[in-house]
Amino acid sequence: MAVVNLIGSYNHALVALSMLIAMFASYAALDLAGRVTAAGGWTRAVWLLCGAGAMGTGIWSMHYIGMLAFILPIPVAYHWPTVLLSLLAAILASVIALYVVSRKKMGASRAVAGSALMGAGIASMHYIGMAAMRLPATCQFNSFLVVLSVVFAVLISLAALWITFHLRDQKMGIGREKLAGAVVMGAAIPIMHYTGMAAASFTPSGMPADLSYAVSISTLGTAGIATVTFVVLGLALLTSWVDKRFAAQTLELQEEKLQRSEAYLAEAQRLTHTGSWAWRVAGGDALHLSEEWYRIYGFDPENGPPAFEKRRQRTHPEDRAKWQGAIDRAIAEKSGYEVEFRILLPGGTVRHIHTVGHPVLNASGDLVQFVGSSTDITERKHAEEALRQAQTDLAHASRVTTMGELTASLAHEVNQPIAAAVTDANTCLRWLTRDQPDLEEAREAASRIVRDATRAADIISRIRLLFKKVSPQRELVDVNEVIREMTILLRNEASRYSISVRTELATDFPLVMGDRVQLQQVFMNLILNAIDAVKDVDGTRELAIKSQREENDQLLVSVSDTGVGLPPQQADQIFNAFFTTKPHGTGMGLRISRSIVESHGGRLWAADNSPRGASFHLTLPTKAEAHGGA
Ligand code: ADP
Repeated sequence: MAVVNLIGSYNHALVALSMLIAMFASYAALDLAGRVTAAGGWTRAVWLLCGAGAMGTGIWSMHYIGMLAFILPIPVAYHWPTVLLSLLAAILASVIALYVVSRKKMGASRAVAGSALMGAGIASMHYIGMAAMRLPATCQFNSFLVVLSVVFAVLISLAALWITFHLRDQKMGIGREKLAGAVVMGAAIPIMHYTGMAAASFTPSGMPADLSYAVSISTLGTAGIATVTFVVLGLALLTSWVDKRFAAQTLELQEEKLQRSEAYLAEAQRLTHTGSWAWRVAGGDALHLSEEWYRIYGFDPENGPPAFEKRRQRTHPEDRAKWQGAIDRAIAEKSGYEVEFRILLPGGTVRHIHTVGHPVLNASGDLVQFVGSSTDITERKHAEEALRQAQTDLAHASRVTTMGELTASLAHEVNQPIAAAVTDANTCLRWLTRDQPDLEEAREAASRIVRDATRAADIISRIRLLFKKVSPQRELVDVNEVIREMTILLRNEASRYSISVRTELATDFPLVMGDRVQLQQVFMNLILNAIDAVKDVDGTRELAIKSQREENDQLLVSVSDTGVGLPPQQADQIFNAFFTTKPHGTGMGLRISRSIVESHGGRLWAADNSPRGASFHLTLPTKAEAHGGA
């Protein structure tokens, strides 16, 4: 039997319709890709699946209308389960396509793999669709054209992915580029389809087709497919448009929120006098300087961020090395820095600044930036200075008052060596006025005069020092020496009440960085309090002063007595200002003593003494640099 190929022809109106659907589907694909990219989390998955559904329907419908446009001189029916399978292939191809183009990056390998999968999907859809044909003829394929159609499918997919990836983020409106992209893609897709169709040739088989599950598609059916497709794609586009509007509104709202929070931040910076900044380590360029930073440093924001050298110049010349040192150390150690320094403004204004910087490292661990803040602490510094001055004045006033009360005792203390000197002077004269003057005895008496007079002068100068108003000075002080001096000055006060004073001072006692007069004041307060507590008790009247070396480079000094003991129920109040249990007390002694000790970096506390009386203990650091004065 001679083989006669059935000659097919095309319904041109349907071909045009299929092209139109291809372009419409392409446009929808471009639009949906943008939505999938913009969405996150589960909304992204929903967009991906629904978008792929709409897009797949579009591609599939284009293909079917293309098939229907092909007219064979024999009746053709379609096996509908296979038709559904081909729709599934189209949707799968669309899932792959949307997934690939909505990623952050699309490298060459991903594009190639994506287009191979997508092309395979489209080709499968096409050939599964052809397999759905039920007709009384056999179908043969020209293998060259089949391969060519698959190659086209892959190449067109590649082009489609590329175009979509680059046009996906187009904002509102139709977008001319997007439209052009859709036309190109829409025109390219049918190329594959019609190449595939050309690959098939049909020969009548003489056998009736198996028509189980087969349907024949009328013109009405074609119109239905086209309409449904347009409706699906239209709905997808509408949803996408609404979503985009919504996203744009959200963005506007977020921008407004951001602006508002920036305004709050600027206000907070103004209120706290804190400027924020960020600068690049290489070159020192400022990456960010807040408005408040400009205000504090006295630069004009109009002139742009000042270079590192300009910022360095603004640092007070006396503090520049300290500032630079902190930064250099932080760079060397890749660590943060915190430094207090002054800046000198062009008009001569000096500001105190407290800066905290934090290192920013890149992925390979190199230090790239510092971010941080600079706070203008000038007011705080002035307040601290005023407070320190007030404390010094108060300590001085309290010292002078106490010394005033001790006048009788101190006079006695000075008087003693003077009286001794007078006696020795008389003795000396006697030795000299003898018939045979005894020069040796006279010299000895004269030496004693010198010693006594020196002692008197020493005591007077110490008393004067306690009266004098000087600002606190830091020097290396021998605490044992201070204790000894104080016990000498107050020795007479103790003996007036028959109190024995015992000292147990540790040898090899390290020196302490501190203010000698202030430390004297502390011991004077503690010893006088002990004398007050002991003077009226019956039994042992004893006062013990002990010094010892502690661990952690600390000195511990205790002043213990056998007096009345700490006031019951009020022991925790004795360090409060104005707390006193004495008729003429001021209640300032312990308060001042504690603040002096703390300003030296130490602690002062009280405890009961066993079996009776009270003990006061204080620690002083031997290494740490002492803080500002009391
Ligand atoms: P003032 O001596 O003027 O009262 P202080 O601040 O020196 O002020 O002391 C406050 C109070 O602490 C004293 O009034 C006293 O009640 C109690 N106090 C201080 N030292 C002792 C001590 N060695 N023994 C018992 N109580 C003491």
